[in-house]
Amino acid sequence: MKRFIFAAGVLLIAGFPALLPAQMRTAVPTEVELAATITTDELKRHLIILASDEMEGRETGTAGQLKAAEYIAEVFASWGLPAIGDDNTYFQQIVFKAESWKQIELSINGKKYRHLWDYYASPSYNTGSAAPLQFKEVLFLGYGIDDAAYSDYKNAAVRGKAILIYDGEPMDANGDSYVTGTKNKSDWSIERKLEAAKANGVAMVFIIDTQFKENVAEMRKTLSSTRLKPAQAGTPETGYAANCHISSETAKALLGGQVKKLVKQRDKILKKGRPAGLTVPVVAEVVQIKDTRSLMGQNVLGFVEGSDPALKDEVLVVSAHFDHLGKRGDAIYNGADDNASGTSTVLEVAQAFMEAKRLGAGPRRSVLFLLVSGEEKGLLGSQYYAENPLFPLQNTIANVNVDMVGRVDAKHESTPNYIYVIGADRLSTELHRINEEANATYTNLELDYTYNAKNDPNRYYYRSDHYNFAERGIPAVFYFSGTHEDYHRTTDTADKINYDKMVLIGRLVFHTAWELANRDKRIEVDVKK
Ligand SMILES: [Zn+2]
Repeated sequence: MKRFIFAAGVLLIAGFPALLPAQMRTAVPTEVELAATITTDELKRHLIILASDEMEGRETGTAGQLKAAEYIAEVFASWGLPAIGDDNTYFQQIVFKAESWKQIELSINGKKYRHLWDYYASPSYNTGSAAPLQFKEVLFLGYGIDDAAYSDYKNAAVRGKAILIYDGEPMDANGDSYVTGTKNKSDWSIERKLEAAKANGVAMVFIIDTQFKENVAEMRKTLSSTRLKPAQAGTPETGYAANCHISSETAKALLGGQVKKLVKQRDKILKKGRPAGLTVPVVAEVVQIKDTRSLMGQNVLGFVEGSDPALKDEVLVVSAHFDHLGKRGDAIYNGADDNASGTSTVLEVAQAFMEAKRLGAGPRRSVLFLLVSGEEKGLLGSQYYAENPLFPLQNTIANVNVDMVGRVDAKHESTPNYIYVIGADRLSTELHRINEEANATYTNLELDYTYNAKNDPNRYYYRSDHYNFAERGIPAVFYFSGTHEDYHRTTDTADKINYDKMVLIGRLVFHTAWELANRDKRIEVDVKK
């Protein structure tokens, strides 16, 4: 029954959209007429369905996400876009690995400590072990660095032992690193330290986390939802020794009465730049039993093939993520703005391109409308596409990405017709100019470049799917309306969406994409990354 309503809904939307008036369906439509097929009504219809409770917040790898993917595929099918995905579907299937703790425990001298309060361990940084790890002593090993210039492992018998290390690296009184010999820090990341511990046969690494409060808060957020990674990402954790991060309080518990001695040893390291260890008797037990499951996610592909034989092998990618946070208990994160708004916008732009193609005015270059999952899990769907592209990346002329375009932020409360433009000038001056001209000619939005600053503390340039293209040297423009009080809350619902501004943004996206897909010369990458 639900399915029938859903299919009927698609027919309703796709079968009879506000396309060009009948008498004009034979003439070659103008760009403005095509853009006019992007309407508030249709944006609203897509958005309400995608942000409905039925989609259960569209968390990657869940039934809700699959339902949303199927909705998008049926919309593409109803417009006549070809199925170019796996097994003649509209999907690029992605196998994700979901890692979580089945059982995680730490006890010191018989006292149990609380995960995510006194210590934390990441399932994707540990292989886990069936049996508890038991220790009668712990070795303080400085910073856990094993470098030619400075090594805490020098003359240390660590095989099968538990070690206690500081994060970071030893700096002398002048602020120079004992590893690099300069003010520049070395690349001894936690990953490298865990690999060195593994290589030296260490059984367990306790890391004294000097930013414990902030990091544990982040980890609580991460671990409260299913943590995913593409199955093809391999298992780097097999190269790491078992590990967990501990607060300074928990470190004191491990050290018992030896805290002062440890501080003395550390000060010796900082003073002389030579390792200074300490063996501390303590009864410690660690239980790390992991749960690893495979989950299927999908990217959805809508392809409009170019009409110009000389240009159709060049591809423009227009993208948005359609996944969101899912449910916590019965609470659904509908994700109306994040990112049902961007998904609806990309669908409407696809419809306009397909309408053009239907009337023989299709784009000269090919356009791939890419709706990705896995964004909320770390840009995983667009990463997967970039690593498994359907069209060679060197033929991908640009990426146009849309994420959260349905709301008005506090800064623009009285001037809602604006959009943040991020990244357009980072790799190509032409992309920036094309967007500016499209706006000046057709949509007259306020283009706000606040978040395009290289030192933007929010780092939005790195936080949506265009980054997986930009990172690979493909010019990318990101359209974003800013954040608001409902961001990543269950209150991000469809009733708060401003469709009048969304339709303008949708038309700007269309006009910029249209120019990119039809201009004689593909845009140049003329700005050094
Ligand atoms: Zn988003």
